[in-house]
Order: sequence, then structure tokens, then C-alpha cells
Amino acid sequence: MGIVYCASCEGKVSDMLDVCPHCGHPLSAAGIDKVLAAKSPPPAIVPPEVQTIEKTSKTWKGAQLISVAVAVIGLMTAFSSDPAALAVGTTMFMFGIVMFIVFKIIAWWHHG
Ligand SMILES: [Zn+2]
Repeated sequence: MGIVYCASCEGKVSDMLDVCPHCGHPLSAAGIDKVLAAKSPPPAIVPPEVQTIEKTSKTWKGAQLISVAVAVIGLMTAFSSDPAALAVGTTMFMFGIVMFIVFKIIAWWHHG
């Protein structure tokens, strides 16, 4: 058992130790592992991540609802008595359907 000097604080440290008792600087490969283990966040970090995924999924579900609403409004506009509304309504309906499919794929992607 000998005495070495810590590379970080230059304090006297036993060469049997993995981590400097003065400043916590790792003195060996095992010490580096200990310091990293102490610094790494606890496993409790997982639940917020799950919540984020659910939130994202809800956002895309909301987007799907909006796109359906756009398609329905477009359909109603297309069937109104005004002939000029037919083109606008059809475009809105097509746009709503395409958006719905796109958002459904995105929502599925976030779920999978
Ligand atoms: Zn030290």
C-alpha cells in the first residue's frame, strides 16, 4: 500500500483507493466507473418519457380530428347550392382526407 498524489487536487491518496477522498476524482478504471455511476441519472427518468410519447400521440389524434373536420366542412361546402363552392369544397375534402391519412401514419409511427 503506497501513497500517490491525486491528479486533480494534488492531495495525498492511498493507491488502494479507486476515487480521491478529497475531491472525488477517479484514480483507476474502477473509480471512473464509480464516478460515472454516481453521476448517471436514476432509472426514475423513464415515466416522464412515456408521458411524452402519450402526449405526442394525443397531439396527432387531435390533428386527425381537425383534418376530419376539414374534410366534412369541405364535403358540406361542395354540396351547397353555390356552383363556385364545388371546387373549393372538393379541394378541402381531398386536403382533409390526405391530412387525416398522413396524421394517422404519424400517430401509428409514434405508437409503434
Ligand atoms: Zn483529489
